[in-house]
Amino acid sequence: MSSLKELYQEVILDHNRQPRNFRPLEVEGVRKAEGDNPLCGDKVTVYLNLGSEGVEEATFEGAGCAISQASASLMTEAVTGKSVEETEALLQRFLETMKGEIPPELENLGKLAALAGVRDYPMRVKCATLAWHTLRAALHAEAAHAVEAVKVEV
Ligand code: ZN
Repeated sequence: MSSLKELYQEVILDHNRQPRNFRPLEVEGVRKAEGDNPLCGDKVTVYLNLGSEGVEEATFEGAGCAISQASASLMTEAVTGKSVEETEALLQRFLETMKGEIPPELENLGKLAALAGVRDYPMRVKCATLAWHTLRAALHAEAAHAVEAVKVEV
C-alpha cells in the first residue's frame, strides 16, 4: 500500500474512532436535516447554526459504517467558519470529486481527499457522500426548532 493510502486510511479510522463535533445542537434557529443510506444502513443528522458570517457551528449525530461517520466528522470540521457560499462551493467540489475522475489532490480538498479512496468501491460512494447531501438539505432548510428536520435519502 502506498504511504498516501495509509495516511488516508488513518484519517478515516481516526475520525471514526473519535468523531469531531458529535452532538446535537440546541440553539434557536438551528437547521437540521436527517440523511439515510438504506443500502448500507448509515444514518446521519446534521445540525447547522448559521449566522451573518456563515456556518458558525456544524455538528452531527449518526450511526453506521466507518466511512459514513468519518465523512460526517470531516465535513463538520471543514465547513465550520466558512461562509454559506464557500460551503456550497466545497460541497459541490467534494461531490464532483466523488463521482469524477479528477485526482482529489488537484481539488484542494485537504484531509477530505482521504474519502476519495472509496471511489474504487462504487457501493461505498453513498456512505461517503451521505453527510454532504444531508449538509445541503440542512443549508436549505428553514430555520426551525430541533424537532423538525428535512429528510434525505441517498
Ligand atoms: Zn456505509
